[in-house]
Amino acid sequence: MRLADDIRRLGFRRWYERQLLESHAYLVTAFLALILLLAGIESMEFARRSPPFYVALLGGAAAAGVLTYVGWRRFNVLLARAELFAEGASCPRCQTWGKFDVLAEEQAADDDPPESGRPHWLRVKCQQCGRDWRIG
Ligand SMILES: [Zn+2]
Repeated sequence: MRLADDIRRLGFRRWYERQLLESHAYLVTAFLALILLLAGIESMEFARRSPPFYVALLGGAAAAGVLTYVGWRRFNVLLARAELFAEGASCPRCQTWGKFDVLAEEQAADDDPPESGRPHWLRVKCQQCGRDWRIG
């Protein structure tokens, strides 16, 4: 219940804001890692004279490539989930946006990586009128 606990602790509006900030931090990380990857690839021609430096440069470029992939993937998953929940955050009865209590969520293991995007749905109850509905 980590995500539900976060929404309970912060409230949906602040949780949504933090998801946007976190996902964009991953985007910046992926972009910086991409620059490192491209710089590493560009420098390989100069590093061929020194095999240890060439191997280190190759390892660094590979690590930057992995970081680019993970950062890009997390950016997409976190942003997509935040947008999905934000689109469904209006109460069907009173149209209040983002003011609800989380009743249930899709089960997720503690070791699920952020890339899994779990939970994909929430069952929530409006704080204004008491109507419950499913988001996602
Ligand atoms: Zn309502």
